[in-house]
Amino acid sequence: MKDKEKKLTTASGKPYFENEDSMTVGHRGPVLLQDFTLHEKLAHFNRERIPERVVHAKGTGAFGKFRVTHDITKYTKAKIFSKVGNECRVFVRFSTVGGEKGSADTERDPRGFAVKFYTEDGNWDLVGNNTPVFFIKDAKKFPDFVHTQKRDPKTNLKSPTMMWDYWSLNPESLHQVMVLFSDRGTPDGYRFMNGYGSHTFSMINKNNERTWVKFHFKTQQGIRTLTGPQAEELKGKDPDYAQRDLVEAIEKGNFPRWALKIQVMSEEQAKKFRWNPFDITKVWPHSEYPLLDVGIMELNEIPANYHADVEQSAFAPAHTVDGIGLSPDKLLQGRILAYPDAHRYRLGVNYEQIPVNRPIAPVHHHQRDGFMSADGNGGDSPNYYPNSFDDIVADLSYKEPPMKLDADVADTYDRNKNDDDHFTQPGMLFRKVMTNAERQNTVNNFVSSMSGITGPKRDEILKRQLSHFYKADKELALQVATGLKYHYKP
Ligand code: NDP
Repeated sequence: MKDKEKKLTTASGKPYFENEDSMTVGHRGPVLLQDFTLHEKLAHFNRERIPERVVHAKGTGAFGKFRVTHDITKYTKAKIFSKVGNECRVFVRFSTVGGEKGSADTERDPRGFAVKFYTEDGNWDLVGNNTPVFFIKDAKKFPDFVHTQKRDPKTNLKSPTMMWDYWSLNPESLHQVMVLFSDRGTPDGYRFMNGYGSHTFSMINKNNERTWVKFHFKTQQGIRTLTGPQAEELKGKDPDYAQRDLVEAIEKGNFPRWALKIQVMSEEQAKKFRWNPFDITKVWPHSEYPLLDVGIMELNEIPANYHADVEQSAFAPAHTVDGIGLSPDKLLQGRILAYPDAHRYRLGVNYEQIPVNRPIAPVHHHQRDGFMSADGNGGDSPNYYPNSFDDIVADLSYKEPPMKLDADVADTYDRNKNDDDHFTQPGMLFRKVMTNAERQNTVNNFVSSMSGITGPKRDEILKRQLSHFYKADKELALQVATGLKYHYKP
């Protein structure tokens, strides 16, 4: 053996000499049961796949750093924001949402934009999308909604009929649908899109005062999108287009950057806001709640091993740090449960011990055992609380201020507070924000997708959806109806 060579071994460390031919009786076989290395290779191979994420299955990721450029200590006591110039390492995973692990990157779909900040106060996960809003505002609807984006139970094909049936029966989807069918629904790779925390969160300052906040990551590469036909073509030519673009840019030293900004709303302002400030189908208009600069995030390292870091990365909106809190947003509240639950299913109960998920902050608790406990499992320290032996204390200084509510349990929507206004903001997007060319592309994209609605309920679905369009913008409804050759009478 040469100096630098390493001996081939089994997983238990036993060196062995034959890695290609099984141990046989004679040259021609049969194969001996005692060839343990054959079993080990085949058995491990059979178990290479872990459960695919039920959503956001196709993704790519990179490490990088976040740097604070502006002082927001007025709003938060989070240590990462305590001083301009503070830095921390981050891991970001970008993804599509509906497709399977091998699906095409340029599908019309929201893009996942999940950021893990490894702060000295623990991991802070901002688990958002490239859109500021979402299709539904209550997690109870999530499985139904996602089923419509997946495959038809009989044909196993994607089904525009299922999608539009659902959207037309859930007008709260309209804002996200409008974004999705604009050119931003097919971003030109992950570097050229914004990211949004989407939900309303809270920030808590050193005086224990709460401010509502929304997070925005603005791409410093500029927005670049694909038209519907360009995206369709790329699905065949290069299904891994967005992953390739990110990996190649970073490997060449062309590090993408995003500016983190926040919008803030006081508790008093929230009471008077003309929409529900915790409704994820709404944005806070920039003219009333301007973007404030916070910092810069740069991605500069593709993980050495995709499975280790990207496939096993586990983000959860529940992972906040002291100084950043949650809000009554119903979808956020559902995600607080759903995300860690998904990770426990996919990766096991000790998923936070996997290196990419492991906090740099010290971890002290009394949770023990479970599959794949790989960090010493607390050693000989007590596994119960309270106890007389360790010095782990529950520190009351981390208590958040109480969240004041003015409703009863099982209260329903207050329709007078515009919780049912699903139309004004999508209308603003179509009329005020989009250019003529974007409006035309959006209409074309709607027509192309809605042309796929088939079956006995086609007309009913079209009429319902066109009525939602009409309430947002009359021209939009009429143009889509014309494109579909459908005689729409509002
Ligand atoms: P502004 O004119 O101040 O801002 C418009 C925003 O829309 C910008 O952030 C822009 O992003 C973004 N945008 C442009 N085209 C699209 C698109 N096709 N899909 C999604 N976002 C797009 O608007 P207002 O704050 O008054 O809001 C008007 C409408 O703009 C909203 O109803 C909403 O649909 C949309 N919007 C608003 C956001 C907000 O937080 N207020 C965030 C994103 C969208 P960029 O600056 O990067 O070009």
